[in-house]
Amino acid sequence: MLRQRIDVKNYPLEELEIWMTKLGEPRYRARQLFQAIYAQGKTDFFSISTFPKTLRQRLSEMAVISNLTPKETITSQDGTVKFLFSLSDGKCIESVLIPHDGYFTLCISTQVGCAQGCRFCLTGKMGFKRHLTTAEIVNQVVYAKRHLPRSWPLRNIVLMGMGEPLHNYENTLKAIKILLHPLGLGFSHRRVTISTVGLVPQMLKMAQAVNVSWAISLHAPDDETRNLIVPANRRYPLKEILNALKMMPLPPRKRFTIEYVLLKDINSRLEHAQKLAQVLRGIPVKINLIPLNPHPGSNFLPPASEEILVFQQTLQKAGYTVTIRQSKGADIGAACGQLDGRPEGGENG
Ligand code: SF4
Repeated sequence: MLRQRIDVKNYPLEELEIWMTKLGEPRYRARQLFQAIYAQGKTDFFSISTFPKTLRQRLSEMAVISNLTPKETITSQDGTVKFLFSLSDGKCIESVLIPHDGYFTLCISTQVGCAQGCRFCLTGKMGFKRHLTTAEIVNQVVYAKRHLPRSWPLRNIVLMGMGEPLHNYENTLKAIKILLHPLGLGFSHRRVTISTVGLVPQMLKMAQAVNVSWAISLHAPDDETRNLIVPANRRYPLKEILNALKMMPLPPRKRFTIEYVLLKDINSRLEHAQKLAQVLRGIPVKINLIPLNPHPGSNFLPPASEEILVFQQTLQKAGYTVTIRQSKGADIGAACGQLDGRPEGGENG
């Protein structure tokens, strides 16, 4: 029986070092390999000139350096680019490249589908198909970095695409280590953001393991409202999430981002804003309001602009920094809550 070859992109540097040592090679070979993959973008062992020929041959027999190529790339009128990647088992995931003034943000997926089932989210409607491997998470970044549509840098990575990153804890953690390592993809910890629906034990564990930025998908100021739209709230109620935020280490001048999807008649009234201001008191946060991006089959609508402004001003008057997210890529199904991993008009395998 053929042995499955190891994908070296599944390993952060410290695991590559252990693997190389087990092969009887010096540890520094792992560093050379890590640099060749991420700094030089090598995709085959034979082109790694710092390796002796025998090692190149040996590695190519037992391992691969994987990559992802999109099946479809769609560009929105506002310059947002959606990459639809087909995985080795035929399933599809999406990454979204968002242009800002002079730099890009990439929103990446961590699962095919999602088990959390948030009521307003198209990915949630798909259900959970599988976790992505570390390599599949990292390769979305590797591809985008090499195919930027203009000469602006890729500055921010947000784990906010398909899936709940903390449900795929181990592979997400390894991917983040590769994203942050100076010999890997070299992103600043301020520029890598994990978005979570509030899986409290994993939040606390991840915050101890790596220094990253956090976006918490709160979407409601009380359990009654949150239970209606975020089923995960029944496992980890609001109070537990807010207590976790108080315990998580945060460097000076850093704040948690509170994500709040505004849904007409559900969570967007004045009293919701007042309650939100009250429950967040004492926690270093900034608030990002996201008027719903409606999608076909959605039971929810965004509130009217006046209601959105009142919501924002109420929080601002209470002393919070509040932004309203301008949804980008809505015309190509790339905006928040619109990712379903399907090519135009197709199905996800
Ligand atoms: S909003 Fe995020 S956590 Fe909720 S179902 Fe969608 S992808 Fe999953």
